[in-house]
Amino acid sequence: MRYDPLPTDLVRAWRAGGPDANGQAPKRATSDGDGVPCRHCLRDVPQGRDYLILAHRPFGAPQPYAEVGPIFVCAEDCAAWEGDGVPPVLTTSPDYLIKGYSADERIAYGTGAVVAAAGIDAAIAARFDDPRVAFVDVRSARNNCFQTRVRRPTNAA
Ligand SMILES: [Zn+2]
Repeated sequence: MRYDPLPTDLVRAWRAGGPDANGQAPKRATSDGDGVPCRHCLRDVPQGRDYLILAHRPFGAPQPYAEVGPIFVCAEDCAAWEGDGVPPVLTTSPDYLIKGYSADERIAYGTGAVVAAAGIDAAIAARFDDPRVAFVDVRSARNNCFQTRVRRPTNAA
């Protein structure tokens, strides 16, 4: 599976003080290195490095299923994740909440589950057996924070 980082242009706009989903400037904090996942490089922000806290709506437009919630990104430039397979940021918790969505950004009911980190790639792949599912969002199992998105592979059914 390919895990999408947030778009670099969007992250750069926040770093320049641009508004978040609530119309507010991002807050700045210093990482303690423990559980501060950046949604751009998809790694934990290292201890002692600054990061931004902001509200993000990872959907195209406001609608009932378009949840807004808190996320972190590195305050300094970082390289967008582009690797294959599970990014480092999805190996720091024992489990994650995954949810399938339709192409019009509605929850595909029945696809949501809390799954073990060790099996997350297979669990996401299985969601694409359901023809309704256009993408799968990964969120924190305990705080519901958006982590990353996997789009339907082009070679999948
Ligand atoms: Zn980063």
